[in-house]
Formats: sequence, structure tokens, C-alpha cells
Amino acid sequence: MSALLTLLIHPVAADDTRTDFADTFTGVAATEPALRVGELSTQRGDGIFETIGVVDGHAQEAGPHLERLRNSARICDLAAPNVAQWTAAIERAVSALPATGEFSIKLVLSRGVEHGPAPTAWLVAQSAPDFSAVRVDGIRVVTLDRGYDRLAAERAPWLLLGAKTLSYAVNMAALREAARRGADDTIFVSSDGFVMEGPTSSVILRHGEVYSTPAPSGAILHGTTQMSLFEHIEASGKPAEYREIPVADLESADAAWLVSSVRLAAPITAIDGRPVPVDADETRAFTEYLLSPRD
Ligand code: PLP
Repeated sequence: MSALLTLLIHPVAADDTRTDFADTFTGVAATEPALRVGELSTQRGDGIFETIGVVDGHAQEAGPHLERLRNSARICDLAAPNVAQWTAAIERAVSALPATGEFSIKLVLSRGVEHGPAPTAWLVAQSAPDFSAVRVDGIRVVTLDRGYDRLAAERAPWLLLGAKTLSYAVNMAALREAARRGADDTIFVSSDGFVMEGPTSSVILRHGEVYSTPAPSGAILHGTTQMSLFEHIEASGKPAEYREIPVADLESADAAWLVSSVRLAAPITAIDGRPVPVDADETRAFTEYLLSPRD
């Protein structure tokens, strides 16, 4: 997938009140080098990111994504992002994209070059993969031990568990392990036996009429797609709750999804080889909602 737009962002202080950020952005041709070899993002994965879906010229949930970027920066002791600057960068990217179709915008904020004067930041906009079949046909998942208990984040904040850091090597390894086991994706399970999240997604279950997702404990990311879908579910009068979900509840689910910003709601068809019922009508309604403009 080639980048449609790459923009270097020269971060300004969070309390900088300027309203025109044009001279803080530098367009870079996708084929040109743009980062220095001393970048801590590449040397150590020391930075944070967000991936935002763009549908027909609208950046979905830009506010919640920037709020999570701010939270990740706080957890990682990075300078707070200037939300107006990042909003301007997103707007500039959206205006450069085609007016129809699905795209993704990745925002990256890194600690910069070792001993360097400033953080490094950039944005990449590209076409989204075609997930239309996955949104209907669904995915098979396996559960994998995350290797720590659900309270690890509070006990060991230096693990940066609630931050969306660039260190995704473990998440990608979990997807390869899923493939080795004949599945498409993973649900991480805490060492004390509770459902956590996917390597790039949140988990939503339905038991009867009640929807649930793991309570944000600091050990998982609070998904913008899950939050948006819960608002939608509650607005239609159905109960949606955060709770501690024992692994056994995966077996009794009447429907289950992995949800994320670009793939949207992928219905789960099997967990560890056991079939899970798929509610095709509801999944279609979720997709329709998630493709509508959302803020
Ligand atoms: N959890 C993890 C670990 C993720 O990487 C992601 C998205 O990439 C999510 C959850 C879902 O977040 P969102 O719905 O904001 O895309």
C-alpha cells in the first residue's frame, strides 16, 4: 500500500495558541528519506501512534483519537501534543485524499533523535485495505496468554500498558502465532484468566441482549471504535457494559466481534476452534453505523 501523503509535523507546545499551523508541516514525497537514522522511534520503538479511519472525506472520531494520543504521551513522559496542530494536520491530510472511499491516517509522535532537541512527528495517509469480505465472512481467533495479569498496569506503570506505543513487535508476533494455529486473529487473555483485547482491536461480546467489553484497567487500550459502538448500542436502548470478563464467557457468547478503526467490526466465527454464532444482520448494522460520519 503506497502512501498518498506524508507530512512531517514540527511539534509546537501544547499551550501554543497560534491558529495557523501551515509552516509547521512539511510535505515529503513517499519515495524520499524523511527520518534520521538516530530516530528513537526506529531504534527503540520509543514513541506513540494513532490510526484513524477516513470514510468518504471524513476523519472518524478524530477527537477521541487525539485524546488517546494525549494520554499515551502522558504515560510515556512525552511532551503533550498540541491538539489544534494535530487537528490541522488531519484536516490537511483529509483535504488531500479522494472525496470517496476508505483511507487510514497514521499519526506518529516519537521521542526524536537521541540527545536531539525535539520530538519527531509525522502523519501518513494511505488507502485502506479492502475489508468488505472480512466484515461479512468474519474471522477465526485463538486465545493467547498475554503473560501478565489484568492488574499489571497499576503495579508496573513503566510497562506503559495503557499507551499506544510504537512497540508492536509482540502484537505482530501474536498474529503470526494465530496464523500458525490456523486462525486469523488473536484475543489476548491475562495470566489470571480474563479477556483483554486483540493485538490491534477491542473485544465486544453479546450474551442475550447485553453487550460487554473488558473494563479499562490500564492494561488494555480504550478503543475509540468500541466506545463509539457502545454509544450507538445504548442509544438504541440496549445495555452495554464494561466488566471483568472471565475467559469462560467467550464460550457462552451469543455473538462476538473484534472492532478497530479501519477494519471496523469483524464478526468472530470461531474461538480456539469452537464455532461462535454470527449475527449477520446486527454485524451489517454495525458496519453501516461505523461507516457513517462519526465524531
Ligand atoms: N487495542 C489495541 C492493542 C489496538 O492496537 C487497537 C487499535 O489499533 C485497538 C485496541 C482498537 O482501537 P481503535 O478502535 O481506536 O482503533
